[in-house]
Order: sequence, then structure tokens, then C-alpha cells
Amino acid sequence: MLIIVTGNGKGKTTSALGQALRVVGEGGRAVMYQFIKGPWKSGEDESQKMLQPHFEIIKGGKGFVGILGDPYPRSVHIKAAVETWTKAKEAIESKKYQLVILDEVNVALKLGLLKISPVFSFLKKYRGIVNIMATGRDAHPRLIKLADLVSEVKDIKHPFHKGVGARKGVEY
Ligand code: ATP
Ligand code: MG
Repeated sequence: MLIIVTGNGKGKTTSALGQALRVVGEGGRAVMYQFIKGPWKSGEDESQKMLQPHFEIIKGGKGFVGILGDPYPRSVHIKAAVETWTKAKEAIESKKYQLVILDEVNVALKLGLLKISPVFSFLKKYRGIVNIMATGRDAHPRLIKLADLVSEVKDIKHPFHKGVGARKGVEY
């Protein structure tokens, strides 16, 4: 099954983490490949250490792309995204996992770091075999059409809009 969690509100990555927790509880294995996200620490980076080898997070991004003092040329972001996609494909093909999460892959596609056609074809082939979850805002219309389950998280209210910065244990 292909599950997409998209939209501009908070709750996409945390929803995927919750899904992984559920899979692990049922005796399965889950893995999360993170696109875009840089090396900075989030609470789940510690939790996954406690859950290995049942659940693991693989960080594959270089951080913000083209904004907020991004020090890398675009080619570096493309290379990172392609490498992460290659590893995620191997995990899906291995059939070792009951759930493979592609965190922020929607954003990697939106930014053009990955091409939609090969991603679409691969997911089309495997979504009936492995549960795959794709997160990130602005999900591609072709993936939305292909998916079995699509949820949109809508931003109704967020402290950020009142100038409140990211909080440890909530945003990261
Ligand atoms: P989370 O990881 O908390 O589930 P998310 O995956 O839905 O969030 P992203 O688009 O990945 O959201 O955003 C990354 C960061 O921005 C997270 O720290 C998240 O809490 C925060 N965030 C999400 N939505 C909003 C919003 N509408 N306004 C401000 N910040 C947001
Ligand atoms: Mg996220």
C-alpha cells in the first residue's frame, strides 16, 4: 500500500513515526529514509537507537535547499537525494521491512532533486508488495493519484505564526 501524508500543517513526520511504532509493536520492521533534512538532532534520532533493529532512521539530506544560508550548490542536494532514494529502493526491494517511510520525499520531488517518472514507476511496482509511506507538503499529483491512502494535514493554527520558535520535544 502507498500512503501519503501531505499538507501545510504539523503532523506529517510524527504521523509516520507513529505508524512505525505500530508496525514494531506487531513484530514487524520499519525504516525511515529522510530526504532534505540535515544532520541536526531531533528527538526521534535518539528514540530510534532504542528501537533498533526493529526501527531505524537513515538521514540522507543536507538541510535547507536554497534558503537560510544553505552552503551547498544544488548538485550536492541532488546527489544526496539520489543516494537516499537508491538506498530506500534497496530497502523496499529487500522485503525485509513491513514499512518503508520516505520522509520529505514529496519536497525532494517538488524541488526537482528527484525526477517524478522513475519514482512513480518504482512505487507503482512495489506498493502492492510493501507498505510505503511518503511524507512532505506539496505531494505530486501523480503520486496522489497512485496512492491507496492520502491524508492532508491542514494548518489551522501554529505558534510559529505568533513568532514562537521551534520547541525541543515538539518541533524537533
Ligand atoms: P512534524 O515533524 O512535527 O510532524 P511535519 O513533518 O508535519 O511536522 P514539516 O513540513 O516536516 O512538518 O516541517 C518541519 C518543521 O516545521 C517541524 O518542526 C514542524 O513542527 C514545523 N511545522 C510544521 N507545520 C508548520 C506550520 N504550519 N507552521 C510552522 N511550522 C510548522
Ligand atoms: Mg516532516
